[in-house]
Amino acid sequence: MEDPAPSLRKMADVLQHITKHYQAGPKSRKERGWLRINKNTMTKEVMSTILSKKPKCGPVPPGEVVVRVAVFHPTKSDKTQEILILGSQKLIDLKNAIDCITENILVEQEGDEIPCIHSSYFYINRTFYDYIAPGDSEPLSQRITTWAKQKEKEGEIRFRRLRNRKMENVRVVDLDIQLGAHYHFCHAIDENHTIIFTEIRFHDAFDPQDRGAYPLDVFKWQEKMRKCCSCAVNHAQLVIYGDKLSASNPAYYCEMCHKAFHKDSQGNDIYLDYHVHPYTHD
Ligand SMILES: [Zn+2]
Ligand SMILES: [Zn+2]
Repeated sequence: MEDPAPSLRKMADVLQHITKHYQAGPKSRKERGWLRINKNTMTKEVMSTILSKKPKCGPVPPGEVVVRVAVFHPTKSDKTQEILILGSQKLIDLKNAIDCITENILVEQEGDEIPCIHSSYFYINRTFYDYIAPGDSEPLSQRITTWAKQKEKEGEIRFRRLRNRKMENVRVVDLDIQLGAHYHFCHAIDENHTIIFTEIRFHDAFDPQDRGAYPLDVFKWQEKMRKCCSCAVNHAQLVIYGDKLSASNPAYYCEMCHKAFHKDSQGNDIYLDYHVHPYTHD
């Protein structure tokens, strides 16, 4: 049997190191400020880069409130983002700060029968906070509120008091929210992200001091990027469904391998009974 002593000694060293670190405490007030951000996996260097790209809008006024919002993946239980936003900022600023790949790939293609819809809403405490994108004729929540009104007429009291407000007109600090409760952000027609308000506190000396820094990402999910199933060298750029010659369904290809397998020397498709979509990451 292996002698446990070396691993125990190693563990004791680690514990001693951790104890020393906590006893010593942070070296300066500035460093303590960074520690608050670092616990969300953003390193000091990454955060400095992010802050250097933010516009300069002047100092945050005294008494300002900072709200931390966690955003979750629409189909998995993973948290994808954590955002610090000022209480005086509008809900539309929070919407613009939510980074979802679906919004980026919603580009209208020529000949599309269904137009892309960029409108979205937050659903918080029986209120739809709508954003109507230019070109869209009605709020994304319209179908739900119409259906709810019909149900109300039929005597279903649980659909009463649903309200609509524009997210451009609502400050974060004016929301009627509960810490830890699950609310919804819906975009791209029917993609729902759970959002949770996890912290509300006063802005202090340890936070970034310029208003332009907010909304500020303090946590970002590490995206998973697949490789091409053919060359296994390049990152996949296309995802293919129902392809009879691929070993898996869906199959992921780089542009070069897809062309080599599915087009002839003239660049014409060899067969068309499969679906190809652009792929960025999971
Ligand atoms: Zn999304
Ligand atoms: Zn390839």
